[in-house]
Amino acid sequence: MHEFIELESRYSAHNYHPLPVVLTRGKGVWLWDVDGKRYLDMMSAYSAVSFGHSHPVLVAALTRQAEQLAVTSRAFHTDRLGPFLQTLCEMTGMDRALPMNTGAEAVETALKAARKWGYKVKGIADNRAEIIVCHGNFAGRTTTIVGFSSEPQYRDGFGPFAPGFVAVPFGDAAALEAAITPRTAAFLVEPVQGEGGIIVPPAGYLAACREICTRHNVLLICDEVQTGLGRTGRLLACEHEAVKPDGLVLGKALGGGLLPVSAFLAREEVMRVFKPGDHGSTFGGNPLAAAVGLAALRLLQEERLSEHAHETGARLIAGLRAIRHPAIREVRGKGLLIGMELDPAWMSARAFCEALMRKGILSKETHDTVVRFAPPLIISEAELDEALVVIRATFEELLPAAEARRRTGESFFV
Ligand SMILES: *Cc1c(COP(=O)(O)O)cnc(C)c1O
Repeated sequence: MHEFIELESRYSAHNYHPLPVVLTRGKGVWLWDVDGKRYLDMMSAYSAVSFGHSHPVLVAALTRQAEQLAVTSRAFHTDRLGPFLQTLCEMTGMDRALPMNTGAEAVETALKAARKWGYKVKGIADNRAEIIVCHGNFAGRTTTIVGFSSEPQYRDGFGPFAPGFVAVPFGDAAALEAAITPRTAAFLVEPVQGEGGIIVPPAGYLAACREICTRHNVLLICDEVQTGLGRTGRLLACEHEAVKPDGLVLGKALGGGLLPVSAFLAREEVMRVFKPGDHGSTFGGNPLAAAVGLAALRLLQEERLSEHAHETGARLIAGLRAIRHPAIREVRGKGLLIGMELDPAWMSARAFCEALMRKGILSKETHDTVVRFAPPLIISEAELDEALVVIRATFEELLPAAEARRRTGESFFV
């Protein structure tokens, strides 16, 4: 075993199960391990590295700002926060933004805003507000958030959980409407479920949810931490159905792959519920984060990365669907957020990712059966075609072992 893996394994909490690769350098869509081997990054740090590794424009914004002013707390104003939030609001069509650091914090901010709006604006009785979520959701790892997860492992041993959440099946607008009561403050939904397995809901689902939420005076809050900022081929995934949410959660790519930067954005009527002292974060909206976030948003526009993700994503999906292999159950996704569902009788997603790694592509399974393909949005068509050749070759190479496994039911690559 590599000394660095041993060291990590000795001193870190075992809350992850990484692939056995030790990375030391990244540039664009490429990563290098400590032995100098090069890999194509098809994972992008769960979409945080949409601009590729160490994008020169973003690194320049980071280093320039680091030398100027990095962290002040929100006890004072800075000349960086306003321009960042202005661009963020103008691009997304939202009225106001509340900057945080991680996705989970921005989701927590959305939950607090929704509840307070429920009491102060909608008139729900104190402490009675409910928020509707979806089965298979992923919104982070805080105790409140895992409390409304439907994934047993995310919850096991971490209770008691906060009340006030109701779960409905994802993709079923009628179920949402049936779950709404006079106590419902908001519906929190991912336009495409990422960690849930790259689940794309039926066409028209989000638009139907919008209509239902409007009719019942319920806030529609889209968690676009993973799907936002070009990933699905539009700036926001909810734009595929021309939906404008009341609240929007962004994160991951907002930090340009360099820093944790997140935000909760909302309509005026919602954001107005926050008064000084109601909510905050020591690092949220710091000048370093604001400078990098602004540079990332500009880059997204200037390089037309949403359009590029739309085009290259269609090419990648078509290329993956053209691979004929009995282990492939389904290829699904939007833009460059693509999942390939494998039949576990043939091979586990983990085994496939390890085989891909040996051939120079890094990806990661989500659940036991889905391989995620979510490269940086800057990936070129030539690089994608190269990746497709390697993916196809990996399936061919694994065919005899997979066939043997299926015949005998024995474990494969464990
Ligand atoms: C990753 C993710 C989060 C949580 O973000 P962190 O930065 O890991 O806290 C929230 N929502 C969605 C949809 C995500 O994919």
